[in-house]
Amino acid sequence: MSKPSPWLDVSIPLANGMHGWPGNPPTVITMHLGTAKGDVCNVSAINFNSHTGTHMDAPLHFLPGTKTMDDLPWDAVIGPARVVEICDKEAIKPAELKKLKPRKGERLLFKTRNSAGSWRKKSFDKDFIYIAKEGAQYLVDCGVQTVGVDYFSVGGFYQDGIETHHVLLGAEVWIIEGLNFEHVKPGNYDLICLPIKFHKGDGAPARCLIRKR
Ligand SMILES: [Zn+2]
Repeated sequence: MSKPSPWLDVSIPLANGMHGWPGNPPTVITMHLGTAKGDVCNVSAINFNSHTGTHMDAPLHFLPGTKTMDDLPWDAVIGPARVVEICDKEAIKPAELKKLKPRKGERLLFKTRNSAGSWRKKSFDKDFIYIAKEGAQYLVDCGVQTVGVDYFSVGGFYQDGIETHHVLLGAEVWIIEGLNFEHVKPGNYDLICLPIKFHKGDGAPARCLIRKR
């Protein structure tokens, strides 16, 4: 039997001062106790919001009274997944999606120019590639189980921010945001994405790993 491929970490690091969605509380990490200042141990104080860095969205993020992070089915985040490359320089639209033939139950991860571009910017990139609302509807119609995107939101900053979330979350498609595929080639992978156990969470930061199949 051949050796399995190594796991690749496609999460971004949680760090003090990292940028996030404009208007959401920033990530602030301070040293509560520190051996460098004579304390017996190191303890960090972390202030962040439920949609920080690499994270998941629960339907409750946009839709009151719907599923929370407690309801996440493990099958949505553990199992085979496909990384596909999007060439469109504006958004993920039905025309390009049709060629990729999304399948029922699929975990689909989108690599766009965000991976090598937006993450390197010093401040939030408002022009990131997002899923157009028509693209979101197409994914729902195909019966996709999970979508992953390589910047902070499935919807755009200027357009389809609310609409795309409503379409996907309304169909209980589980969403992973804030992935980085800069060093990942399109293809078939195993996926493990485990969000922190945030009770009744509308979203939660997650560690996300993939491994070539
Ligand atoms: Zn989110």
